[in-house]
Amino acid sequence: MNSMLDDRTVRADGAARTGLCVWGLTARYGPVTALDDVDLTAPPGQVTAVLGANGAGKTTLLRTVSGLLRPQAGRIELGGVDLTGASAEDIARAGIAHVPEGRGVITELTVEENLRLGALLGSARSSVRTPPTIADVYALFPSLQRRKGQAAHSLSGGERQMLVIGRALLSAPETLLLDEPSLGLAPRVVSRIFAVLRELVDTEGLTVLLVEQNARSALSIADNGVVLNLGRVVARSDAATLAADDELRHAYLGF
Ligand code: ATP
Repeated sequence: MNSMLDDRTVRADGAARTGLCVWGLTARYGPVTALDDVDLTAPPGQVTAVLGANGAGKTTLLRTVSGLLRPQAGRIELGGVDLTGASAEDIARAGIAHVPEGRGVITELTVEENLRLGALLGSARSSVRTPPTIADVYALFPSLQRRKGQAAHSLSGGERQMLVIGRALLSAPETLLLDEPSLGLAPRVVSRIFAVLRELVDTEGLTVLLVEQNARSALSIADNGVVLNLGRVVARSDAATLAADDELRHAYLGF
């Protein structure tokens, strides 16, 4: 496993070529094997859905890719650059932004202050991608602009989700890891957020790895997907094929 990344490796231009790839990824919590020999590719400029029931290992996959959890085995690459074992900070600088489950906004700060924190990270990163401005984020999510002076604790669940996604976008990531962005949100709000993500993928070439229990919604915007069960990949295909597979849907996807 490598440790520090040098200036050359944190350049993100290679990410446009090969996206995010993991091979043989294995992660454990003590005796519990949460990820077992997982291979996965998130092609550049596409949405890849990671689906599966509770406890399938989806969150663990994102935590391992973003450096919050050290894998016991396997390899993680972004744009051909080996990130295995790199720190969470180096992985963020390399172009991976992780939006964890639970709307991790800083509730005492205003909407705009939360966004400024994201912009700080963007300015610290050497990226080939031009970071968006806070005005760009407001254009994507107008309700954030209307509430820019309000403390984040006063936002609805959907607005908090928009805020954490907006904050992540300000770091000009190549790859966005999203953990259950639809959780607890009304279908109309989920549609709005997913439509913005799809637009960013199509217009900016953003790469998205989307973890969802809401498989139906996820597959409606995904290009391709993998299904995890008990830490192992049990299916992978383009999104339309997964959505049309009755057996798979009944066994693992809940719709
Ligand atoms: P959910 O949708 O419920 O979050 P998930 O697919 O994201 O499920 P993980 O949270 O990655 O699944 O959990 C995978 C396995 O690892 C489960 O068996 C879970 O109980 C276990 N696990 C997760 N976090 C920990 C932890 N901190 N300590 C011990 N075991 C854990």
